[in-house]
Amino acid sequence: MSGDFTVEQKNYLEGFVSGIAAMRASRGLGPIVGTKAAAAASASHPEPIGPDAASHRAMARFEAAGRKLVDAEIAKREEMGLDSYARMKKAAQEGSYPKGPDVLRWRYHGLFFVGPTQDSYMVRLRIPNGVMTHWQLAGVADIAEAHGGPYAHVTTRANLQIREVPATDGIAVLEKLVGLGLTCKGSGADNIRNVTGTPTAGIDPQELIDTRPYALEWHHHILNERVMYGLPRKFNVAFDGAGLIAALEDTNDIGFQAVEVTDGHGVAPGIWFRLALGGITGHKDFARDTGVIVRPQDATRVADAIVRVFIDHGDRTNRNKARLKYVLDALGFDAFLREVEGKLGAPLTRAPAGSIAERPGAGRQTHIGVHRQKQAGRNWIGVVLPVGRMDLDQMRGIARIARDLGDGDIRLTVWQNLLISGIRDTDVALATAALEALGIGISASAVRAGLVACTGSEGCKFAAAPTKRNAEEIAAWCDGRIRVDQPVNIHLTGCHHSCAQHYIGDIGLLGARVPVSEEGDTVDGYNVLVGGGFGPEAAIGREVFAQVKAEDTPRLIERMLGVWMERRASPDESFAA
Ligand code: SF4
Repeated sequence: MSGDFTVEQKNYLEGFVSGIAAMRASRGLGPIVGTKAAAAASASHPEPIGPDAASHRAMARFEAAGRKLVDAEIAKREEMGLDSYARMKKAAQEGSYPKGPDVLRWRYHGLFFVGPTQDSYMVRLRIPNGVMTHWQLAGVADIAEAHGGPYAHVTTRANLQIREVPATDGIAVLEKLVGLGLTCKGSGADNIRNVTGTPTAGIDPQELIDTRPYALEWHHHILNERVMYGLPRKFNVAFDGAGLIAALEDTNDIGFQAVEVTDGHGVAPGIWFRLALGGITGHKDFARDTGVIVRPQDATRVADAIVRVFIDHGDRTNRNKARLKYVLDALGFDAFLREVEGKLGAPLTRAPAGSIAERPGAGRQTHIGVHRQKQAGRNWIGVVLPVGRMDLDQMRGIARIARDLGDGDIRLTVWQNLLISGIRDTDVALATAALEALGIGISASAVRAGLVACTGSEGCKFAAAPTKRNAEEIAAWCDGRIRVDQPVNIHLTGCHHSCAQHYIGDIGLLGARVPVSEEGDTVDGYNVLVGGGFGPEAAIGREVFAQVKAEDTPRLIERMLGVWMERRASPDESFAA
């Protein structure tokens, strides 16, 4: 400080400088460049200052402890994926795909190079709460026709993927999607994935809360807070409004579950979110109740604080142990929540004993067929999409039905299908006939209604089997031979990454190479599990058959279903029981 100032002036200037520093620190920033404070900080603190500093500090801690960062972390530190757009654009002009660490960086923008399985990109979108407009779906069809395979997939995060996009066209797809009001930013790599929510939000007769505003607020927060990128590993957040269709929030890192807090317990009665943490079914864990309740308007602030604690503690040296579950296992829930409170600068609210009313349960087939909305005279129609696939005519036709006969919205579900909402009672038959004209049904056998499959070996290099094709074969075989009278969920996943969550299916199939000769030849196949569930029936399936050839699975599943129906104690007994 200048020696010409009075004591009062010096005090004022010191307070002014420290106030600026505190404001910048709260945003993860260091001193303003060029000031004495910045020079002092950089001399004593050689690590990068800026929004990536929290991640870089975490990496430095592992290195200081003599632990080797995994390659993905080094790639993130060398160049943050969001900063690679210009190079990505140049690569598109040259017609080249990414190599080495750029494969990861391009995924920050939603471009997944899926070689060697397919010599092309898969483009993964973001559809917050799974809700999109008719014109967006029609626009996606136009983009897929111009630049990709003539179809799109609905994913298990209520999202869309466009596939078979050549190297020259990736940027064009991204930029055209922005023109539709859609984005792919952060949809891959170690970032926060598409925000899921109750697909019937705002139209569901039993919901406790419309999840759309909260999912949307979190979506925009993620997009615009750079510190939310480059996490130790991917991160999933879901909002469940207690509607008729399960959002599978307990399979997410953060599950916000709408609950009704009743009067007389010392906290404001009304609708809150119960906070569940650490879901990762591929690692056989559901999100666990923390005992904390969150006011809906605080959900983004609390989720932000949780992610910041994850950034501080997530393992950057072992990708198999890098998800939030492992931070919770290491710290324990109490210590973790104390750190979250530290980030928030305020205590979390614990739910007093007996304060939460029983939640209404979801149906098992409410995502299929015609269902009454809470708006008088209106209905949603759950459309069956075989393992999530829609061709261009179907996408355009569905968009047109939503525009002409519905409220204009299309709602994707985690069950790899979609709903058209706002159909008048008088138009249900017309909409159904129009869907039939597109080759799409609104009813499905018990086997088809609960059939979920990941991309599989036709588009993913990790897969041990063509899951989507095998799922169709299982459904076709069983539908022709056995009449199952209760919902049964069958989930096919190509590898341990568990994108189709085989552990929570009544029947789960996990891709496995099956040896067929002593020379080491193998064929497509699966390990078969039973007994998984979700929500109030949450359970991790257990393996009952190992290394079953894919060609044998239709007969095996038919036999398993047949034995269950013959031996169950009563016709009401579910497969899970
Ligand atoms: Fe690929 Fe494995 Fe995910 Fe299936 S589960 S899409 S095989 S990474």
